[in-house]
Amino acid sequence: MSEIAIVGTGYVGLTAGACFAHLGHRVSCYDIDESKISKLSNGEIPIVEEGLEALVKEGLQSNKLSFSTDPQKAVSECEVVFLCVQTPQLPDGTTDTSMIDSAVSQIAEFLPENSVLVNKSTVPVGSAKKVFENLKRSDVEVVSNPEFLREGTAVNDFLNPERIIIGSENENAAQIVAEMYKKIEAPVLITDPISAETIKYSANAFLVTKLSFINSIAAVCEGVGANIDDVIEGISYDSRIGDKYMKPGPGWGGSCFPKDTKSLIHIVINRLLSEGAKVKAHDPTVSDNKEGIPPQVLIVNDPIVACDDANAVVLLTDWDEYKSIDPNEVLKRTSDPNLIDTRNVLDVKEWKNLGFAYQGTGR
Ligand code: NAD
Repeated sequence: MSEIAIVGTGYVGLTAGACFAHLGHRVSCYDIDESKISKLSNGEIPIVEEGLEALVKEGLQSNKLSFSTDPQKAVSECEVVFLCVQTPQLPDGTTDTSMIDSAVSQIAEFLPENSVLVNKSTVPVGSAKKVFENLKRSDVEVVSNPEFLREGTAVNDFLNPERIIIGSENENAAQIVAEMYKKIEAPVLITDPISAETIKYSANAFLVTKLSFINSIAAVCEGVGANIDDVIEGISYDSRIGDKYMKPGPGWGGSCFPKDTKSLIHIVINRLLSEGAKVKAHDPTVSDNKEGIPPQVLIVNDPIVACDDANAVVLLTDWDEYKSIDPNEVLKRTSDPNLIDTRNVLDVKEWKNLGFAYQGTGR
């Protein structure tokens, strides 16, 4: 009998499913996206995440991990079912919970008696109660278990979390969910669902506050001629402040805020296009113009090729392959040596010595 079902095999669901299988559980993953499920069943993973492909292959080989588009097959033998579907933002800023509602209606009749439905998606406060009402299954407990993993380090974050938050009105259901994590060493906080949901939002709010703060300080540094790196180091020795989430960048990056990052990339590129710029772009995780990338943008598969004949090179993410890029090679390729290093990851002196007009953030 499978122990765990995952509903929504995206970033969070796939990571959770592969990691739970790695921890020894039998996990069945369900998604409505047929092409994703067919690829996953063959061990092809749609996201770039260190260690994930190996865990998916390990799970498939040991038969601990399976993928399906059939809700009945996926959940009907599972005592614990995790909801991991997306909860995007609507144009008015509220959260679109329609994917949660559809998923709940698809699985409701197939959930085994006395099973536990766990909400891992990030949802408005009060959603556990709403899910319970929509479910119309008085025998099934609805538990909140928010996820804090970051894209880029998802597997490591899932297996080594700083805390596990479980919100339940029912102590037994909370313990069943805690049991799923028993091989993980981390503080487990059991609370009520409303507090668990509020913890997730509060953590996100605090992190974006830190990022906004340091971006504002970076702007001050640019204005007064201070060095942002030294300012950060100077304030971060104060243990009340620390150095985490204190790196300036082109807005809010970070894995918890994918919607914000996406819309930010859109604004960078779209403004340049509207001004008549020709944009050539490289990203190790993007191979073509899918997912909202304007068709005028030429996606290339090598960062050096992206620099060919460029009047300016803009670095927006801090992938390792960009940090180690050879400035001499970039100089040979570009028409004008203009470099905008929004992540402050390149060696200013090295690039300036070669004649680049270097613009960092707060530098
Ligand atoms: P995602 O878009 O990567 O994946 C969602 C998956 O759910 C997709 O594969 C989609 O096809 C599937 N799905 C949609 N409706 C379904 C249904 N009715 N039945 C089955 N599958 C369905 O989303 P994600 O990034 O994994 O985020 C999931 C939730 O976790 C969101 O609430 C998000 O805010 C939260 N979260 C995300 C992160 C992150 O870094 N990505 C971190 C913490 C929390």
